Amino acid sequence: MSFKNSPMVAKVVFGRGSFNQLGEIITPMRKNERAPFIFLVDDVFESQITFTSKIPLLYSDQILFISANEEPKTSQVDSLVEKIILSSSILPSGIIGIGGGTVMDLAKAVSLMLTNSGSSEDYQGWDLIKNKGIYHVGIPTISGTGSEVSRTTVLTGPTKKLGINSDFTPFDQVVLDPELTENVPKDQWFYTGMDCYIHCIESLNGNFINSFSKTYGETALKLCEEVFLSSPSPNISQDKLMMASWHGGMSIAYSQVGVAHALSYGLSFLLGVKHGIGNCIVFDHLEAFYPDGVKLFKKMKRKHNITLPKGLCANLTNQQFDIMIDVALSLEPLWENAIGKDWKSQITRLSLIHISEPTRQEAIS
Ligand code: NAD
Ligand code: ZN
Repeated sequence: MSFKNSPMVAKVVFGRGSFNQLGEIITPMRKNERAPFIFLVDDVFESQITFTSKIPLLYSDQILFISANEEPKTSQVDSLVEKIILSSSILPSGIIGIGGGTVMDLAKAVSLMLTNSGSSEDYQGWDLIKNKGIYHVGIPTISGTGSEVSRTTVLTGPTKKLGINSDFTPFDQVVLDPELTENVPKDQWFYTGMDCYIHCIESLNGNFINSFSKTYGETALKLCEEVFLSSPSPNISQDKLMMASWHGGMSIAYSQVGVAHALSYGLSFLLGVKHGIGNCIVFDHLEAFYPDGVKLFKKMKRKHNITLPKGLCANLTNQQFDIMIDVALSLEPLWENAIGKDWKSQITRLSLIHISEPTRQEAIS
């Protein structure tokens, strides 16, 4: 048996207000005055001058505002890389992603593609990246995905939604400042927070579970329960959810996600449904796989008056439904984790149609 030798984030700073230290943190990494830092920033902050004025710009550093309305695409990564290369005579000193999973994943991918030739779609998969990326920093402004700690950057390409999984993907530096999450809209707070909760349930109930993952998964699960069921004060809640996200991400680093993620990847590839909400829509129907987890999920949903959108799959043709199922079935490690080595004898195209049926039924009803 060969054990996975997993990379981790090299440096992390945690604390309310720690974002103010960003200049001091990145200054030693500046190669020279001509090599800029490129800040990829969620465009939700574009009009927030008090926030953007804290971004420590010097020399020819640039801010590129990014819309998080859609999940990152390989074509978007490629055009950002081209733009950065054309705007500077030498490689940047670093890429700094400030936002949720969408912007952090883009920052990771851009850093890698500045030093690896071709299109980012060529690297969707496992360990295809040849060269170390440039210095990259992740600064989450919403908590849950665990992207700040993971060794993947999830991209939608022309034929698949799949991450660039590599030892070079994790951030060199992460800044965890829970204050940055204080204006997240409530529904989005719930959806992205539930991504973390579902990471824990899928990791803890999977076949790949081990003491390393369990330690992180149990900690994250406890934090999620405190945040979503005990309603602590806003500051404590923001602090706890940020740490839940980190631990949830660490838990899956050494295990795997499961059924909800496989199905929601399919949903997202086909309909562009975003990850957090897609997971919630699917997970709501997975009592057969995660009975306790789904029960608690429904309780949290009720407590926060969350109504999941219905009717998403209403107009899907059978052919589109097939594509969705193909994407889900292609994620073999996820099924192996959830069901076991012989998952193919239990999970067939037909059984997936059966599992997915409620999302169609409720669309019709
Ligand atoms: P997101 O980054 O897509 O952001 C969701 C919404 O919240 C956006 O409208 C954004 O503008 C808004 N937002 C973010 N911070 C805000 C703030 N402080 N105040 C107000 N609004 C704010 O959401 P997400 O759920 O964090 O990320 C989803 C993405 O993460 C997907 O693309 C998914 O594939 C990816 N993901 C990656 C990993 C990984 O390990 N790399 C893991 C899970 C998910
Ligand atoms: Zn997830």
